[in-house]
Amino acid sequence: MDQAVSEIALSVVIPLYNEEDNVAPLCDALLAALVPLGRSFEIILVNDGSRDGTEARLAEAAKRDPRIRVLNFRSNKGQTAAMMAGIDYAAGEVIVPMDGDLQNDPKDIGRLLAKLEEGYEVVSGWRRDRQDSYMIRTFPSKIANWVISRASGVKLHDYGCSLKAYRREVLRGFRLYGEMHRFIPIYAAAQGARVAEIPVSHHARKFGQSKYGLNRTIKVLLDLLVVKFLTKYRTKPIYLFGQAGVGLLILAFLAGLWAIYLKLFHGTSFIQTPLPLLVSLCIISGLMCLLMGLLAELIMRVYYESQGKADYRVKSVLNPREGAAANDTAGSSAIE
Ligand code: UDP
Ligand code: MG
Repeated sequence: MDQAVSEIALSVVIPLYNEEDNVAPLCDALLAALVPLGRSFEIILVNDGSRDGTEARLAEAAKRDPRIRVLNFRSNKGQTAAMMAGIDYAAGEVIVPMDGDLQNDPKDIGRLLAKLEEGYEVVSGWRRDRQDSYMIRTFPSKIANWVISRASGVKLHDYGCSLKAYRREVLRGFRLYGEMHRFIPIYAAAQGARVAEIPVSHHARKFGQSKYGLNRTIKVLLDLLVVKFLTKYRTKPIYLFGQAGVGLLILAFLAGLWAIYLKLFHGTSFIQTPLPLLVSLCIISGLMCLLMGLLAELIMRVYYESQGKADYRVKSVLNPREGAAANDTAGSSAIE
C-alpha cells in the first residue's frame, strides 16, 4: 500500500471467517452508513478461508457495488493475517478495520472520522456496553486491558475492539503477527502518534459463532510481552539481557563475599549455607543472559541491516535536497 497515491478517502477493512449470513446485512449497513459521509470509500472484505458460503455471498456483494472489493484467502490464516492483507491492499487516506459479524456498528465510522479530524492519528473504539458473555469474554478482557494499559503506558479501555481508525501513515511499514492487531495503538504512540478513544456501540451476534474463547487472553498477554520488548529494546536487546546478566553477576559476587566473611569471622563452613549454590547459579545464569543479549544483538543487526531498515522515522524535512528521501518518505519502516 506504500506507493499508492491515494484518491480514496476511506478504506474499511473487514476479515471474515464463516460469516455467510452476515455478509449481506453487513454490506447493507456499511453502504447505508458510508454513502451519507460524502467521501470516496472502498470496502475491503477479506475472506479468511471460510468453509461455508461466505465466498459465494461475497461474490454477490462485489457484483452489487464496485466499491466492495473482496480478497479470498486459500486457507484460514486468522483474523490478524486477514486484517493485515486488507490493510496492505487498502488505498484510503484513513483505514478503518472492523469485524464482519455486525457486532461493530458501521454507523460509528463517521464519529471515528470526526475524532481523527480533531488532530489524532489513531482513534480507538471502546465497547463500553459490550454484548458478550461476561465471565469468559468481558471480564478477562477487562483484566487484559488494565495490564496492557499499565505495561504500555497507552491508556485505553478496549484494546480488543476491532473498530478503530488510523491515518494511513501510521500503518506504513507495520507487519502484524499473532494477536497483534490490537497493539497498533501502542506502536503508533511509540512513534509519536496521538491516540484517542471514543465509545462505540456493540451488538450481540445474530448469525454465526464467535471464533474465540478464554485461551485468547493468554495469547494476548504473550503478545504484549513481545510488543513491550520490541518497542523498548528493539534496537538494543543487550540492554535488557545485559542488565539482567550484570545484576546476576553482582549478586554472585556479593553472595561470594558474604560466604567468605562468614567463613573467616564466624568459622561457618561453605557447605553450611546455601550461598555457594547461589553464587554458582547466579554466575551461570548471568553469563547466559549476557550471551543471550549478544545473540539478540546479532539477530537485530541482521534484521535491520540485511533489509536496509532504519530504526528512526522522519516526520518532515524542510528544504530537502532534490532527489533525497528521508526514510519515512521512502516508505521503509521503523517497527515491524
Ligand atoms: N475472523 C477471521 N478469521 C479467524 C477468526 C475470526 O477472519 O480465524 C473474523 C470473524 O469472521 C469476525 C472477526 O474476525 O469478522 C472477529 O471474530 P469473532 O466475532 O469470532 O470474535 P469476537 O467478536 O468473538 O471477539
Ligand atoms: Mg464478534
